[in-house]
Amino acid sequence: MRPPTQLPARADYVIVGAGFAGAATAWALGRRGPCTGVILDRELTFGVHASGRNAAMSRLTDEDPLITALAWRSTAHIRALEETPGELLRPTGGLTLAPASHPEDLEAAFAVLRAQNILCELLRAPVARARFPFLDAWTFDLALWSPEEGIVDIHALLSRYLKLARQTGFTLVTNCLAEGLIIEDGRVAGVRTSQGEIRTDTVIDASGAWAGQLGREAQPLPLEPRRRHLFVSGPLDHARSTDPFVWLQSPGFYFRAEGDGLLLSPCDETANPPGLPATDAAATELLAEKLSALAPTLADISIRRQWACLRTFTPDRRPLIGPDPTHPGLFHVSGLGGFGMTTSAAIGELAADLLHNQTPTWLDPKPLAPGRFQLI
Ligand SMILES: Cc1cc2nc3c(=O)[nH]c(=O)nc-3n(C[C@H](O)[C@H](O)[C@H](O)COP(=O)(O)OP(=O)(O)OC[C@H]3O[C@@H](n4cnc5c(N)ncnc54)[C@H](O)[C@@H]3O)c2cc1C
Repeated sequence: MRPPTQLPARADYVIVGAGFAGAATAWALGRRGPCTGVILDRELTFGVHASGRNAAMSRLTDEDPLITALAWRSTAHIRALEETPGELLRPTGGLTLAPASHPEDLEAAFAVLRAQNILCELLRAPVARARFPFLDAWTFDLALWSPEEGIVDIHALLSRYLKLARQTGFTLVTNCLAEGLIIEDGRVAGVRTSQGEIRTDTVIDASGAWAGQLGREAQPLPLEPRRRHLFVSGPLDHARSTDPFVWLQSPGFYFRAEGDGLLLSPCDETANPPGLPATDAAATELLAEKLSALAPTLADISIRRQWACLRTFTPDRRPLIGPDPTHPGLFHVSGLGGFGMTTSAAIGELAADLLHNQTPTWLDPKPLAPGRFQLI
């Protein structure tokens, strides 16, 4: 944490939200050359919401080729940001498991990975168990092994984006709520905040679960925050930090090593207003139910701690990146769903390209089929 910073009077960019969306956008804008920018966050420090409380899995495996393309591009950037190899992205690899009754859980994602030349292998259960003995406890028939996936030090990555952004002219102002837009002559001229006004021609709404409301109080964008729980177990003999994380599409479950135990999620998804959600006993019951079915020998594990946080989705679950359709000067970087940490660097780069009126040449236009990409 650093001492409070004063709100400047004017900046080229005002970014609302110091999570992965805002921090990576500031980093990417700064890479293009020095500029003046301010990143505002309503909290006393950054990373208080989804960006500091997520499962930290860098996952390339997705049925949507756009998400995989963004994740893969981002992986390259994150590796390039490392001062020592593995410091930000620990290359554990990732496994997606499926029962024989749901081979489609793996087939579509396998095709997407192969089409983008990302290393991956489909394995039958005996082969997967021989390679990864900890899988003995889990019920599955097929595995998709993706060695380029890994675990991110989320606080280090968020801090790295912000540090690099500061070096190019951005200032982080915490404990500062963006309350509304200043509109003059039909376009954005600044932001009203809890610390006073700041003038700018470009406001970037990267406010996570609150996104789509700033300046659009009468007609918010269709973004929906949904709550998800994470649990950390007590010590377990076979939890090793070098093991890959594991994702089970059916019935929706994931886990990875965390200290001497496991971090687990029953992949619950409940609509929730923006904020820090309270935990709900129903999620613990769901965890117990799924764990008993998937790994009966682990059904009695103790839970050391748990928390809940919000993932924010657009209706088609693609990110919402682009200028506001009705407010000149307002730009959106939101709807980062459950992939916002993994894809952050590419999302920032995409936003910076679009803010500079450039078409992102690094992104294959095929996944950008009209109506599917939320490029507003
Ligand atoms: C349980 C869980 C597990 C997840 N696991 C993964 C994972 O393994 N891998 C992955 O890639 N992704 C994961 N995600 C998703 C990822 O965490 C999010 O997509 C990402 O953090 C969203 O970043 P953001 O910057 O949009 O939002 P946030 O992190 O919520 O940041 C928004 C910021 O805006 C600030 N803000 C809001 N309104 C205002 C205002 N008016 N004025 C000033 N500041 C404001 C907030 O304080 C906040 O800091 C997970 C999410 C959850 C909830």
